[in-house]
Amino acid sequence: MTSEAFRFCDDLGPKTILHVYQPTVGLKAIVVVDNVARGPAIGGTRMAPDVSLEECFRLARAMTLKNAAAGLPHGGAKSVIFGDPHMPGDKKEQYIRAFGHCIKDIRDYIPGPDMGTNEKCMALIKDEGGRCAGLPADVGGIPLDEIGATALGVVCSTDVAKERVGLKVKGARVAVQGFGAVGKHAARFLDERGSLIVSAADISGAVYDPDGLDIPALIEHVEGGGVISDFAGGKQIERDSIIGVDCDILIPAARPDVIREDNQADVKAKLIVPGANIGVTEAAEKMLHERGVLCIPDFIANAGGVICAAVEFAGGRKRDAVATIEEKVAGNTEEMLRRMDDKGVLPREAAVAMARERVDAAMRYTRFDGDWH
Ligand code: NAD
Repeated sequence: MTSEAFRFCDDLGPKTILHVYQPTVGLKAIVVVDNVARGPAIGGTRMAPDVSLEECFRLARAMTLKNAAAGLPHGGAKSVIFGDPHMPGDKKEQYIRAFGHCIKDIRDYIPGPDMGTNEKCMALIKDEGGRCAGLPADVGGIPLDEIGATALGVVCSTDVAKERVGLKVKGARVAVQGFGAVGKHAARFLDERGSLIVSAADISGAVYDPDGLDIPALIEHVEGGGVISDFAGGKQIERDSIIGVDCDILIPAARPDVIREDNQADVKAKLIVPGANIGVTEAAEKMLHERGVLCIPDFIANAGGVICAAVEFAGGRKRDAVATIEEKVAGNTEEMLRRMDDKGVLPREAAVAMARERVDAAMRYTRFDGDWH
């Protein structure tokens, strides 16, 4: 850990910060293993040109809380690779392989796919001798984005939270921001359960239909290479206006900080269930709570992906992953809501307290260095 990195240290971690440089390939990367009291730390590998140590640390800490809240036998970590994720395939393979080689001896870190990386990247890291979760089915993985693991958790959380705001899933009007691995499947699952998906957005634009979009047609369109701005069903609206669309449930499943202090007043939904990480700022969450909008904390609602990864790492199969996601995300949403009532606190305060208690309990069994071996 460099002296600059010590500014992140507190009573939880981080246990290790590793800066990686591989001169032949030009790879620069950072690994933050935050806390391993509950077990080897799982957290995605993000590839982007503008990643930073601070971002890596914040995401690693979020994984410590997410994994503990989900009741997984894993601590939290994250890694970032500096680079354009759309670089030519052979160069990207070199980067990923070099990364896998450099981190193979960090035994308490288990990488997984994140923005800019995918299941194939995890197979390359594994091939370099590392541990991974989120592998392709060909090498024993459970393809979490293909089955919609995170979206399944979002829907389970929605199912528990809906009664709080007097909604039923059947007939609820839903807006989904982001139509990738999370948003697309969330729309599909809710459509199948009888909700009306009145609006959907991707990076190109947004569509709106108060009678409900044809979700199978929209998925076919997107999977065929189309984008939402050229989808013929529904009325085209300005992309970011989806935040204020007239709906009951809003599912942010795209970028961070899309609901903030300056636009939270536009939200008409009664319930926000984020697929995205840090999609709603903490200040906005507080303001939404004050005006009666229930906003489920991101790490409670979107834990389906990491739960699936943990089941895969433990040798489980797809059906085990589905059952575990349903049980854990629903159970955690229930517990979070109960604590919120009992203590009269915000949803996030209840969720963080729940996660902290689980990390603290595990830390009582660790040696001074928190080493899980
Ligand atoms: P993805 O890359 O598959 O899809 C992202 C989608 O968001 C795309 O449809 C893209 O066009 C859209 N998008 C990007 N910028 C947008 C904008 N400004 N407005 C509207 N749409 C925009 O990503 P994903 O895997 O679906 O992840 C989405 C979010 O969920 C991210 O925040 C990610 O960190 C989080 N998340 C994903 C998983 C997972 O299992 N994939 C797990 C936990 C959290």
